[in-house]
Formats: sequence, C-alpha cells, structure tokens
Amino acid sequence: MIDFPLTPKARRCGNGYIDFCPAHEDRTPSLSISETKDGKILLYCFAGCGFDEIISAAGLVNQKLSISKKFEGNTHSFNSTVERINHAISIWNTPQPIAGSIAETYLQSP
Ligand SMILES: [Zn+2]
Repeated sequence: MIDFPLTPKARRCGNGYIDFCPAHEDRTPSLSISETKDGKILLYCFAGCGFDEIISAAGLVNQKLSISKKFEGNTHSFNSTVERINHAISIWNTPQPIAGSIAETYLQSP
C-alpha cells in the first residue's frame, strides 16, 4: 500500500507508480515509486534526485511512509480478547487507499 502523495498524472507501473518528481523541475514523469514486500517505500528518480531530497520536497520528512507495517499482526499472538478487539479496532480506524490493492482488483472484476 503506497502512501505517497501521487499527482493525478501518476500511472501504474509494475507494482508501483511512475510520477513527476517533486525534487527537480520534472517535465516528464521520472520518479518511480514502489513498495517492497516488507512495506518500505522505494523512490527512484531517473534524473538522479536522492531519496532524502524527494522526501523533503514532497513534505514527508519524519513521516511514516507506509502504513502496511501495522498489519504485521498476522503473525502476532494476542494475550487476551481485549487485545484482539483493540487490534481489530485499530485496523478499522486505519483507512487505506483502494488503488493498487486486492480490493481494487476485486471491484474491477466482472
Ligand atoms: Zn528528481
């Protein structure tokens, strides 16, 4: 789940996106945004901007870039019902964009 401020011109590319790079004057989309299996955001600018430059230009300094880490709870063991319920509530209270998710694929299927 990519939690990066994509422009409306962003287009899907593999399991990520190609978008305009906020860190340099970008005339053609040259920023590749994707996510690793362990929930880390990968940013690659074909013009050579560094990860930190892109993050600060996008206004994301010190922000948690991916919310997928919260869902590592699959392997989590719960000590009590209360803990399990609280975990479920935290999932419900964490809205995620549908784009690129299994849900989107499901909704688009005939
Ligand atoms: Zn750039």
